[in-house]
Amino acid sequence: MPFSFKRNLIILVPALLSLLTGCAVTSMEYEPVKAGAPADLAAMVSSLESTPKGPIRFRKIVAADWAVARDGLINFEHPEALKAGLEEGLEPIQIYFYAIEHPQHGLFLVDTGMAAIFAEESDNWPVSSLVKSAMNMDKLQVRVTTKNWLEQNGSPRGVFLTHMHLDHILGSRDIDKSVPFYIGPDESTYGAFMNMFVQGTTDDVLGTDRKLQELRFPTPGANPSVAAADDPQKGRMRILDFFGDGSFYAIHVPGHTAGSMAFIVRSTEGLQLIVGDTCHTAWGWKHNVPPGSFTMDQEGNAHSLDALQSLVQELPGLRIHLGHQSL
Ligand SMILES: [Zn+2]
Repeated sequence: MPFSFKRNLIILVPALLSLLTGCAVTSMEYEPVKAGAPADLAAMVSSLESTPKGPIRFRKIVAADWAVARDGLINFEHPEALKAGLEEGLEPIQIYFYAIEHPQHGLFLVDTGMAAIFAEESDNWPVSSLVKSAMNMDKLQVRVTTKNWLEQNGSPRGVFLTHMHLDHILGSRDIDKSVPFYIGPDESTYGAFMNMFVQGTTDDVLGTDRKLQELRFPTPGANPSVAAADDPQKGRMRILDFFGDGSFYAIHVPGHTAGSMAFIVRSTEGLQLIVGDTCHTAWGWKHNVPPGSFTMDQEGNAHSLDALQSLVQELPGLRIHLGHQSL
């Protein structure tokens, strides 16, 4: 049959192409959103240095205890890790989300915590058995469900996702569909081979008709006055002053995923840095070693981690909140 070959080719070529280029983390549509004001690093740092306290009530919530493979959380091939002789095994970690409460703009969350369904029998979870076992999800112990927390604190106006890995969106189903989820550049569309296995679960966990809004960051290097010859990272950091009043900055930190974001909060208690999964563990932060196999782009992740480490050097007193462990 001369046509069957051609027909098979029509089916096979897109499948092979998607194997080579990978598929997106979700099939859900997003819309670009112009929110916040572009900020430059030098101006942000000097303003934060002079006035570290601000209007935001900041809370960190431990949503679950968990344990996953250490070599996923830490790059074992990094010279520091080799020197320390780290051993494979399960590393105890936690899942966090953050409440950002602005006196005028209201309540926002960073990441989503754990939906009430994850406090039920795992057979009911909207997660494929492949993903469940690959992510070691039988080790998840929910402490607070997002549903319970929101019942006591009210519904948020928006949710910022540090990135779209499953462990950061597990609370989505407890959050109203009208609430926008803000994501970083290319976060929902960037192709990766792994996504072929997680896309269906990511869609299910997010829930249908989720309102994904991709933040527009200033173009890298658009502000040459900030670039310094001794520190090429400086001009490249892309920062948004989300509320436009210097109280909450989103920073694009590509590497762990394409659209990973970190956040600086000028809180009533002082400066807070939400690192996200650019660094998962306390050991990784102290030794400046990026995550291992859980990271998409080692080099990009290392650059972003260096940039955050140098930011911390410039802002003593800033409290650091890592992806999955507390310092
Ligand atoms: Zn994570």
